[in-house]
Amino acid sequence: MTNFRKKTIKDVDVSNKAILLRVDYNVQDDSGVLLDDLRLRESLPTIKYLIKNNAKVVICSHRGRPRGEFNPALSNLPVAKHLSQLLNQTVNFADNAFGDVTSKTISSMSFGDILLLENIRFYKGETENLDSFAEKLSEPFDLYVNDAFGASHREHASIAGITKYLPSVAGFLLEKEVSILENATKVPEKPLGIILGGAKISDKIRILENLIPNANTLCIGGAIANTFLLAQGYDVADSLVDESFIDAAINCIDLAKKSNVDLIIPDEVIVTVGQGAENLIRTVAVDQIPAGWRVLDVGPSTIAKFRHSLQDSKTLIWNGPMGMFEQEQFAKGSLEIAKMIGSLNVPTSVIGGGETAAIANIAKIKDQVTHISTGGGASLMLLKGDPLPGIESLMD
Ligand code: ADP
Ligand code: MG
Repeated sequence: MTNFRKKTIKDVDVSNKAILLRVDYNVQDDSGVLLDDLRLRESLPTIKYLIKNNAKVVICSHRGRPRGEFNPALSNLPVAKHLSQLLNQTVNFADNAFGDVTSKTISSMSFGDILLLENIRFYKGETENLDSFAEKLSEPFDLYVNDAFGASHREHASIAGITKYLPSVAGFLLEKEVSILENATKVPEKPLGIILGGAKISDKIRILENLIPNANTLCIGGAIANTFLLAQGYDVADSLVDESFIDAAINCIDLAKKSNVDLIIPDEVIVTVGQGAENLIRTVAVDQIPAGWRVLDVGPSTIAKFRHSLQDSKTLIWNGPMGMFEQEQFAKGSLEIAKMIGSLNVPTSVIGGGETAAIANIAKIKDQVTHISTGGGASLMLLKGDPLPGIESLMD
C-alpha cells in the first residue's frame, strides 16, 4: 500500500475553525430536484466529521459551465435543500460566494453550522484562477479543505489558487479516491486486469502506456478497439477510428508483448447500418464487418473472452464504455461488463470515468465493487499517472 502523501482533516485541529470546504456537487437537476446525489452522499463523512469537531463549515462548489455569469438554472440552491435532507440538519444558502454580506453571514454562524455558497463558477476569477479572487474568497476562513476529487484536475481558484492563502488539507473523499486509484495502478495486488473502452483513443493512449507495464491482462473494447482492430489488419468499415493513432496502437501491442500482458481485443462485435428506427443490427465476427456498417458494441463472444481472461484477477480497473451505451440497442456490452465486474468477487475493483461510473450506477453494482470514482477527468489523470493540481497544492 502506498500512503496518502498529503495532510488530511485528521492531521490538523479543526475545532472552532471557520472552514472553507470545496466539494464537487456538479449534479444535474430536473426543475430543482437533483438527479443523482452520489457526490453529495460521498461528501457526508467529511462534513459530519467537521461538524462533530465543532467547526463552522462553509461549502463551496461549482455546477455546470456558467462561464463567469449568474445563471439561475445552475444555482446551488437546490443542492442546499437536498444536502439538508441528507444531513438532517439545516444547510443555509448564501447567494454570493464572497463579499461583505457573505462575510457577515459567516461571522454570525455558530460552530457546527453549515452554509453552502452560490456556484463558484458564476465568477470569472474561478476558472481563470486569479490570485486576487482566491485571496478574497479565503478572507473569512482559517482553513481550507479540498474534498472535490472530481474537480481536482482543474487549475482553478477554489481548487489550486486558494491554497496560497490558507493552510490546506484533504477531506476523506479526496483521500479515499486518490489512495484507491494510486494503489490499484501503482502497487496492485496481482494479477491486475484492465478493461479499457470509450470513444477517443487520443484520451486513452497514455492510460495504456502507464498501466500496461504493471498489468497482467488488458481487455480493449469501445470505439478505441476499432483502431486496434485496424492496426491488426481488420477492415472496420465505417466505424469510428482515429487513423493517426494506428502507430500508437501498434506500440501498445508491442509494449504489451514485452511486458507479458495478455492483450485481448474483440473477436465479435455488434454492427449497424442506417439511422434511428430504420437501423439494422447484426452480431458479426470482426473479420466479417460488412462494407458501410459500423461497430457500436462488443458481442457476446467478446464478453465471454473478457470474463474468462479476467476471472483470476486480484485487482480490476475499468474505464470506458464498451459501446455507444447512450442508445439502448448498444448498451448491452457495457452493462454486461459492469455486471461481470460486480459478480467476479475480485478483492479490489475500481471503476473510473464519468460515463463509466454512470453505467456502473445503472447496473447497480456499487455494493459489489471496491470503488466507483466520483471524478471523470480527475480519475483519468490518475490512471495516466499525472499529478493533480488540487492534490499537489495541499500541505505535505
Ligand atoms: P468515460 O467518460 O467513462 O471516460 P469516454 O468519455 O472515454 O468514457 O467514452 C464515452 C463515449 O464512448 C460514450 O459517449 C460512448 O457512446 C462512446 N463509445 C463507446 N464505444 C463506441 C463505439 N463503438 N462507437 C462510437 N462511440 C462509442
Ligand atoms: Mg467521457
